[in-house]
Amino acid sequence: MIPAAFDYERAESVEQAVDLLGKHEDAKLLAGGHSLLPLMRLRLARPSFIVDIDRVAGLEYVKETGAGLEIGALSRMAVLARDETLWKHCPLLAHVCGQVGDPQVRHRATIGGSVAHGDPASDPPTALLTLDAEFVIRGPSGERTVPASTFFKSVFETDLGQQEVLTAIRVPKLAAGTGWSYQKFHRRAIDWAIVGVAALVERSNGHVGRAAVGLTNMGSTPLRSGPVEAAMAGGEASSVSLRAAAEHAPEGASPVSDTNASSEYRLELSKVLVRRALEEALAR
Ligand SMILES: Cc1cc2nc3c(=O)[nH]c(=O)nc-3n(C[C@H](O)[C@H](O)[C@H](O)COP(=O)(O)OP(=O)(O)OC[C@H]3O[C@@H](n4cnc5c(N)ncnc54)[C@H](O)[C@@H]3O)c2cc1C
Repeated sequence: MIPAAFDYERAESVEQAVDLLGKHEDAKLLAGGHSLLPLMRLRLARPSFIVDIDRVAGLEYVKETGAGLEIGALSRMAVLARDETLWKHCPLLAHVCGQVGDPQVRHRATIGGSVAHGDPASDPPTALLTLDAEFVIRGPSGERTVPASTFFKSVFETDLGQQEVLTAIRVPKLAAGTGWSYQKFHRRAIDWAIVGVAALVERSNGHVGRAAVGLTNMGSTPLRSGPVEAAMAGGEASSVSLRAAAEHAPEGASPVSDTNASSEYRLELSKVLVRRALEEALAR
């Protein structure tokens, strides 16, 4: 279908984008366009004004910030999937960016667009929630930082205000000895996850120190699985029962039923994928 009519302006800076958003009540930012444009073509989104930030300079980077990394919001998935700094300090995120869609999608889609879109079936938001990421947001009253744990509100709903631009994402560097995994279950390589599971497991002296487990497409937002994390923490790495911990995966989750899978199927599948993710993370 052809999108409804809209006006368009290309912003040269974040400040100009904020300004333009303020002038049009239903204006929308356009980054890689791989989520917004399909919605407009289906007329599920009908913004009357598009603010194109795709070519705003200075928002495509990965830089070290002491204990962490900062990633510019316009960084493309394809670039992040092969970024050496990201692979060295945060391999979970580099790997997950390489799991998004196909090469064509990854060369257009931005990490900021993925986060701002707020689709619970998207892969990077789950990885970022699992990593305890923070989002840097610029609006008319300046800059603020929001933790991933409070950013995602519901399906396609985030903490971003109408006149705000996500400019950067901050993640901690993974501690030495941290194993990681992302298990994505889908029918074809280009598809979104029917269920996805991100896992981080910190080990020291043969013990599991801390585990972080995130779930994709298991509710209206990306989720952290507190019960699985609690079941993993503190045990001996060799004897901790991964199967028993994984059995907790469905607790607190409320996945939808759709043409790909029923809710019950997703709940069962989450146990299998959590076990596989924990196994892989512990083996890494
Ligand atoms: C065929 C296909 C397959 C796909 N497969 C997957 C997949 O397997 N896994 C997956 O996770 N995703 C998948 N995607 C989604 C893809 O990753 C999206 O392009 C991405 O999630 C959105 O990024 P974008 O830069 O294209 O954002 P856009 O489409 O430009 O924008 C998306 C939304 O975010 C807002 N926005 C964008 N940037 C900002 C910003 N900096 N600040 C504030 N708001 C902003 C826009 O206003 C819009 O509402 C797929 C897409 C397609 C078309």
